[in-house]
Amino acid sequence: MNILTEEFKTPFNTVPFEQLKNEYFLPALNKAILIGKDEIAAIVSNTQTPDFFNTIEALERSGELVDRISHIFFNLNAAETNPEIQQLAKEISPLLTAFANDIMLDEALFERVKWVHEQQDEFILTAEQKTLLDKVYKGFIRNGANLNNNDKEQLREIDRQLGQLALLFGEHVLSETNAYTLEITQKEDLAGLPESVLEAAAMAASKRNKPAHWVFTLQAPSYLPFMTYAENRQLREKLYQAYASRACKPNENDNHSVIMELVQLRNERAKLLGFGSHAEYVLQERMAETPQKVNSFLDDLLQYALPVAREELAAITAYAQQYQELATLQRWDIPYYSEKLKKEKYNIDDEVLKPYFKLENVVGGIFEVAKRLYGLVFKENNDIETYHPDVKVYEVNEANGQHLGIFYADFFPRPGKRNGAWMTSFRGQKNVNGQVQRPHIAIVCNFTQPTSTKPSLLTFNEVKTLFHEFGHALHGLLANGTYTSLTGTNVFWDFVELPSQVMENWTYEKECLDLFARHFETGELLPAELVQKIKDSSNFMAGYATVRQVGLARLDMAWHTVAPNTITNVDTFENEILQKTELLPQVEGTNISCSFSHIFQGGYSSGYYSYKWAEVLDADAFEFFQERGVFNKETSQLFRKHILSAGGSEPPMQLYKRFRGKEPSPEALLRRSGLLRPNQTS
Ligand SMILES: [Zn+2]
Repeated sequence: MNILTEEFKTPFNTVPFEQLKNEYFLPALNKAILIGKDEIAAIVSNTQTPDFFNTIEALERSGELVDRISHIFFNLNAAETNPEIQQLAKEISPLLTAFANDIMLDEALFERVKWVHEQQDEFILTAEQKTLLDKVYKGFIRNGANLNNNDKEQLREIDRQLGQLALLFGEHVLSETNAYTLEITQKEDLAGLPESVLEAAAMAASKRNKPAHWVFTLQAPSYLPFMTYAENRQLREKLYQAYASRACKPNENDNHSVIMELVQLRNERAKLLGFGSHAEYVLQERMAETPQKVNSFLDDLLQYALPVAREELAAITAYAQQYQELATLQRWDIPYYSEKLKKEKYNIDDEVLKPYFKLENVVGGIFEVAKRLYGLVFKENNDIETYHPDVKVYEVNEANGQHLGIFYADFFPRPGKRNGAWMTSFRGQKNVNGQVQRPHIAIVCNFTQPTSTKPSLLTFNEVKTLFHEFGHALHGLLANGTYTSLTGTNVFWDFVELPSQVMENWTYEKECLDLFARHFETGELLPAELVQKIKDSSNFMAGYATVRQVGLARLDMAWHTVAPNTITNVDTFENEILQKTELLPQVEGTNISCSFSHIFQGGYSSGYYSYKWAEVLDADAFEFFQERGVFNKETSQLFRKHILSAGGSEPPMQLYKRFRGKEPSPEALLRRSGLLRPNQTS
């Protein structure tokens, strides 16, 4: 028996992780694909006249077993992988690509879809059904349904190669991140580092059986504090070099040629489908619509951010000169001196705040926020199985006790976990003729671990990350649609960060912090003046940060709009594009693109701009909350109804206007981040 193809006989039909074995995946998936193909064959051979239900809806409901198995598999590959799973991924990815392509290139199926699309005025369809029909139809066109057989073959081959290259890119970055350690044996080299960081480094050393006393790694909870606090400039430079040269050194993990192949193939694919570039292809289904709009959006922000960023760096340089002779400020100086200056200016740093942000308290706090805004109740359930003992599981209910979904929270770094933080799902939400399936949502993070003497104490940034991912989770949990592919986070990419980023705003509100920010030892509430300082300091270096984000977004756009045959060298190309946003000296042997996993491994290609785009939305949305109080029920109900529960059921601008009563304006963002000077208007 293979449990992956059976109905899960577990609480809430959650994944039975404890009985799951790696060898189940491939046979289960092969079986699921056969079932999926039968379902498609049944649609195609249906002798009735094609209509929305026997074609579009039937297609939406097909392949569910494939989806279930692949969700579980890829969630594990991201959060708890090992060489065996990585090897399996190489076999599974091409199978899934082939299955998806078989559907997309099925001519008889496309004929039916096309017919329904052309006859749509004959049917009475809801807005949601119209969106689904349009999405399905465009999906076919965008996947080559209108191509001749030769071109279809070529498209399949390109997709197969692209899938493998993306996996390869990610493996290279993961290997390089895990391969490097900075071993320190002299206590004086640790000057400036807080006690908690030293403890973690000592623990990392003993875990590795290293003769050294302290070990630092390239994983964020180790790398970032070292860059922020270590006085030893040479060591900061050394660690920076290691971090920024990941996957761009001439070894077996070099991503230079992977990038060239990726952009070449993406461009070929776009051309084959009738688009000018990969970016044009991607943006056809985005709120931003075209590369021109994205670039002018970015240039607009840059125009406000650059002068502020230059002033900020001048201030840091002047400040740093008090401590040491610095001919030029280098990249490994920025986190260190900006933290020092920030501390002097606001007398606030992570170490002062961390005792108030014990992980368990913050989690309790965010549940309370969800209760005040949406009436939700989170209840831990230890009977639900997990893929790792660190993972916590909660039942989520409405205020009236009605079951809403399952929430998994996986907080700490492990060698088999990807860097960063993300939300994902084990199953989505849907409504089949009144039978509602509620979603199973997970967030995966890499937060500061507890030590032998201290619980997990989060930095303020980690608190914001938790609120961010929790916002995505709410989008998933509050989904209330008919079709899985139009619910939860299944929205346009430049809209998906609105629910997450808007949640970050609450972390600056005293009313919110008072719910959970208590000292883990004394129980004292985070003092009001510290809350004010957090607010005041939140715009510290905002210009620099904006320029950096815009730089990455422009780099992403460039990789996917410039004709690849005009690009001869990854490094030269990158430098050329970054020139406009470059405020610091180049560092030999480092490169951003080779570890830019967002755009070369994940799905953010031609989409990195969407972080800023969504910031415009979230700043504008939060001003609406602020106008009537941050826990105002009417505002939160509007947000729940039109944004969180609506998913991708209608075009995002329409949904947004229904919530806000107007289109978003960039001024709220410029105002919030202090980039709009009094005499300027946007
Ligand atoms: Zn996000």
